[in-house]
Amino acid sequence: MFIKRKQEQKEEKVYELRAVEIWQCPQCIGWMQKEFTTSQNPTCPFCSSNMVSSVRDVNVMLE
Ligand SMILES: [Zn+2]
Repeated sequence: MFIKRKQEQKEEKVYELRAVEIWQCPQCIGWMQKEFTTSQNPTCPFCSSNMVSSVRDVNVMLE
């Protein structure tokens, strides 16, 4: 016989969808947040293409 216990979630993580500025690779799926790069003309880490400025909805964890 199984007894079901209520599982309490101790860590409740809250996410918020935010539009953040990114660099996007026009050749592949590569992209990076501008916040985390200092380069003014970054290249894609996957295919070395010049990345273009864009905006993307990103899940940001709220603490
Ligand atoms: Zn790329």
